Amino acid sequence: MAPIQKECDFLVLGGGSGGLACGRRASGMHGAKTIAIENKRLGGTCVNVGCVPKKITWNAATIRETMHDAKAYGFHFEETAPFDWTGFKHKRDAYVKRLNGIYERNLNNDKVEYVHGVASFLDRSNVSVKLDDGSITNIKAKKILIATGGYPAVPPHIPGAELGINSDGFFDLETQPKKVAIVGAGYIAIEFAGMFHALGTETHLFIRQDTFLRTFDPMIQEKVVAEYERQGIHIHKRSSQSKVEDLGNGVKRLHYKDANGEGTLDIESLIWAIGRTPETEALHLDKLGGLDLNGKGHIKVDKFQNTNLDNIYALGDVCDSGFELTPVAIAAGRRLADRLFGAQAEALLEYENIPSVVFAHPEVGSIGMTEPEARKQYGDADVKVYSTSFTAMYYAMMEPEDKGPTSYKLVCVGPEEKVVGLHIMGLGSAEMLQGFGVAVRMGATKKDFDRCVAIHPTSAEELVTLK
Ligand SMILES: Cc1cc2nc3c(=O)[nH]c(=O)nc-3n(C[C@H](O)[C@H](O)[C@H](O)COP(=O)(O)OP(=O)(O)OC[C@H]3O[C@@H](n4cnc5c(N)ncnc54)[C@H](O)[C@@H]3O)c2cc1C
Repeated sequence: MAPIQKECDFLVLGGGSGGLACGRRASGMHGAKTIAIENKRLGGTCVNVGCVPKKITWNAATIRETMHDAKAYGFHFEETAPFDWTGFKHKRDAYVKRLNGIYERNLNNDKVEYVHGVASFLDRSNVSVKLDDGSITNIKAKKILIATGGYPAVPPHIPGAELGINSDGFFDLETQPKKVAIVGAGYIAIEFAGMFHALGTETHLFIRQDTFLRTFDPMIQEKVVAEYERQGIHIHKRSSQSKVEDLGNGVKRLHYKDANGEGTLDIESLIWAIGRTPETEALHLDKLGGLDLNGKGHIKVDKFQNTNLDNIYALGDVCDSGFELTPVAIAAGRRLADRLFGAQAEALLEYENIPSVVFAHPEVGSIGMTEPEARKQYGDADVKVYSTSFTAMYYAMMEPEDKGPTSYKLVCVGPEEKVVGLHIMGLGSAEMLQGFGVAVRMGATKKDFDRCVAIHPTSAEELVTLK
């Protein structure tokens, strides 16, 4: 049977955060005839195997911590059964499924045609889509956006590595492992480690250096490592893995080396969280004849999300913006649609001062430059740092061993002490950062922070009373 042929103004490859935002804006707001192609589930990584199920699990872990803390406040209760991981997981899956449906309805509302299948280029303006039933639809488009995201990287050449799972597999776990090993030092590894531990799993974290979250300010790295150790998470520093064995009955043996020498660890789950690779294999980028990629296979774009080929654009995790975050992909997508179809020739996303948080235990928030970055760029003489560490009032009723840390830092530059970096760690940091992010984005100085009257009693007030 001859393939069905369709035509459109704008073809979006990938129904994740960036692709959907861009496609919906192009069609719903600017009237471009738009088709979006998704090979898995609408919403992409964030909705299905990222932010959303992660945050729900983090909420569960935080509730578990609150139950422990409640006793210090005089509450008395007994848990009559352990945490129902299986029931929780199924309820979380159902919530995500509802979101998939909402995303499909939103596409309909914005008149974006949705095709479910695997997209691959035929040439610079034609894409072939293999549908679920094996049939092919060919689409000719005036402009094409590549927003196919990334997938969890596989560890290189470790025998038995396939016995481990990745971040997608974390969300498939039907039962709670009693003992887990997580390999990785980025925010996904740190979030998983914190959640497992809070929910009562014996947690081993394998990192290559002495600290994790290494793109964050050193204060964050040091304080969160110290706090994870204090809580009892086993951190294997300066570690590498040499082999994984299947011992049967769901038990794996991990052979490793760390700062203390060689060892083995028997675990129920091994999770590789060692980074993400751009998802371009099925796209047959070679058919485009000369699309520029970087050394890691990310698509290179300029500040307007243009690739080096006319009428082909890319955004989100398939590019290397330095910010693999949902709101970044969404913002870039909306600006691109405004530029291409909304006559806003200068619309672009500025990839600076982007707030990011880590749902660790406790939370971390960060915007702007780290202290070393600021010192490198402006020189020591021009940089002034304000920092504080204290115990939040939430812990007032608790025994010393149950008190968590809070640390804040402002990195300021120049005689006017413009705030170029803000780094916070402690309860509520994720929610706090959004507002402070606006201030930093507007170019606030230390004086502006000082002029804002404190809200008492909060932790956030410490940021406007720093000496
Ligand atoms: C565990 C985890 C937790 C995270 N937590 C957060 C968080 O708390 N906050 C945050 O901001 N970000 C978080 N992220 C990152 C966030 O999910 C990504 O940055 C975001 O989803 C990137 O959006 P995107 O549109 O570039 O790609 P994606 O959302 O990955 O969407 C790309 C889509 O394209 C599809 N696709 C790929 N190839 C093809 C093809 N050939 N044909 C058709 N379709 C194709 C894919 O299946 C996918 O659905 C998390 C990620 C992970 C893995």
